[in-house]
Amino acid sequence: MQKIENYINGELIAPQAGKYIDNYEPATGQVYSLIPESTDDDLALAVTAADNAKESWAAMSQEQRSNLLLKLADAIDAASDELAKAEAIDNGKPINFAKAVDCYRSAANIRFFANAATQFASESHGMGMVGVNYTLRDPIGIVGCISPWNLPLYLFTWKIAPALATGNCVIAKPSEITPMTAYLFSKLCIQVGIPKGVINILHGTGPSIGGPIVAHPKIKAISFTGGSATGKLIASVAGPALKKTSLELGGKNPTLVFADCDFEETVSEVARAAFSNQGQICLCGSRIYIERSIYDKFKQAFVEKISKLRIGDPLEESIQHGALVSKPHMEKVLSYIELAKQEGGEILLGGKRISIEGRCKDGYFVEPTIIENLPLDCRTNQEEIFGPVCTLQPFDSDEEAIALANGTEYGLATSVWSNNLKRCHKMSQALEFGIVWINCWLLRDLRTPFGGVKSSGVGREGGFEAMRFFTEPKNVCIKY
Ligand code: NAD
Repeated sequence: MQKIENYINGELIAPQAGKYIDNYEPATGQVYSLIPESTDDDLALAVTAADNAKESWAAMSQEQRSNLLLKLADAIDAASDELAKAEAIDNGKPINFAKAVDCYRSAANIRFFANAATQFASESHGMGMVGVNYTLRDPIGIVGCISPWNLPLYLFTWKIAPALATGNCVIAKPSEITPMTAYLFSKLCIQVGIPKGVINILHGTGPSIGGPIVAHPKIKAISFTGGSATGKLIASVAGPALKKTSLELGGKNPTLVFADCDFEETVSEVARAAFSNQGQICLCGSRIYIERSIYDKFKQAFVEKISKLRIGDPLEESIQHGALVSKPHMEKVLSYIELAKQEGGEILLGGKRISIEGRCKDGYFVEPTIIENLPLDCRTNQEEIFGPVCTLQPFDSDEEAIALANGTEYGLATSVWSNNLKRCHKMSQALEFGIVWINCWLLRDLRTPFGGVKSSGVGREGGFEAMRFFTEPKNVCIKY
């Protein structure tokens, strides 16, 4: 069986302790490869490699560093078919989605930050005839990047790219649930000649290697994307060690549909927002609030649209809805559907596990599920399910829509669907989220700040926000 290897000091190597864990293909429920269960010994090797590499990487000209990263982006594009297939097998997502979203964005992330670094300037503050300040922005040194399973290579590169572009060396850990594309990525790093030790990729679970990365004294900053509970745990370790942290956490995102929206387009886009990647995107809109006057019309059109999604083997090009990422995750999603029923929810569509004929008969497939008749304060509407489950609820006024939207502990993203410009601006002001989309969802400009408020995180990624996070400002004050 294929064994994934760690990438340390420019080489692919087995874990020091020789231990591996099983890697499942979610669409079949079968183990198909093995993942290193890395430990402190692997981390020690990676930190030594990064320590040895960090001065020359930081001293390299920006142009040279950016050119290497651009080569890496090109290598991802060239390997896009192989990477998309690997992502579909490892994660259960439809192969077309993996290609159009995951692979496309992974290359775009690296290309974007390679270019952004050439435009990143530090500030100066003149003091008239008294003097001048200028600010240096040096790399931090060695940084840790920890990513989740839902958009594996996409979110992995989203962190690594700005860290490397600003001259840091990286110790990175992909999710143990979807390690394959990070492993293939390490081969691309070797292929394009990323210098030894500049990026090190360690595989394993949170307790075996994630925790040690966060705690290691030579790793000075942690960029983390994952669940809010893990984020809080990481903050409790990184905080007392006074490390810089960027925490991109969970969400329970509301979608607000007004009677004056462009109806057909809104139905399509709200459907995409709720069920893309089987609802496993932190930005998915899983609480859908609809102005009462169009509630029944919208409900009917929405249920009809979702009932037509083609569910099946993620490796088939025509499939739109694949498997959930793991058995425990599928069980969690199904338990929330049961909870929704107990809470009085009425299932309008779906609600069950599905068996697909053929090679996917034991896969982790759950029907796209639409529920109504649940209040804001029930657990189904308060807790992140992170699967193909959404709830519908009517509202009567702008004020009520705002109160419903803001009424959870999360504040990652929201979308508003209306042609009333004044309302959209006023809502944007009142909504407590890091990202507000008006008449769109997941329309991304990589220059913009990305992240959430409340339990959805601390700090922002994207554009110069990420470049600032991965650099240490030093002000130099000169008196004339
Ligand atoms: P998770 O928190 O379980 O794991 C994320 C990563 O952290 C994994 O690599 C895991 O191995 C590692 N980890 C676990 N325990 C750790 C510890 N104690 N110390 C260090 N690392 C540890 O999250 P998940 O289940 O992989 O991902 C789903 C979650 O991620 C959802 O809550 C989703 O909303 C969130 N997410 C957020 C964003 C965002 O940008 N805000 C994007 C994608 C996913």
